[in-house]
Amino acid sequence: MILQVPVARYIPTNAYFYIDEDTKHGFLIDPGAEPDKLLEIVKERGFQLEKILLTHGHFDHIGAVNDLQRILKIPVLMQKNGRDYAENPVWNLSAQTGEPITLDDVTYLEDNTDIVLQANPDFRLHMIPVPGHTTDGCMYYNLRDHVAFVGDSIFAGSYGRTDMPGGDSETLMKSIVREILSLPDSTALLSGHSGATTVATEKVQSWYQGISAE
Ligand SMILES: [Zn+2]
Repeated sequence: MILQVPVARYIPTNAYFYIDEDTKHGFLIDPGAEPDKLLEIVKERGFQLEKILLTHGHFDHIGAVNDLQRILKIPVLMQKNGRDYAENPVWNLSAQTGEPITLDDVTYLEDNTDIVLQANPDFRLHMIPVPGHTTDGCMYYNLRDHVAFVGDSIFAGSYGRTDMPGGDSETLMKSIVREILSLPDSTALLSGHSGATTVATEKVQSWYQGISAE
């Protein structure tokens, strides 16, 4: 099951629980703020979180990580370029908020890693790099459930900003076309800030027309 939870500190962000119905074990993606709200859901629903997964290292996606990790004592995973963001409040943009964030205990992932649920090895997410919004941008994809957690690479009807540290618009367009819009049409794209969309829906958007992966 997928549970989308809006959390907000400076800007609203979608956090997602991706939970195996059989075992209640699962993953939490992009806990950007409001750790108490997220912990309350974990407790109420009896979720056993095994890992926190980050789509990229911006402050509005990592803001609750330290509090949750201290309490839950579970690994935090991000793409290997995420170290530049995790360890630098200027790059993760938290320096602009007056509440600088650094993450100290992160497991950095090689591209195209499978993240497997210990309680049920059939339940897994595949990490695919999607650089452009940031250098560490990635998505977590499950073919069987037709779902991709895409962070800020693509939104319903638009795509992520590229004017912040490590951003590059040409890289983002190529990443989106090569990695996201090549997924099956029915794939749900669950983003960090918009409502859900699908590959089929985004392929006919005006912003996409004429862009190629080459
Ligand atoms: Zn971002």
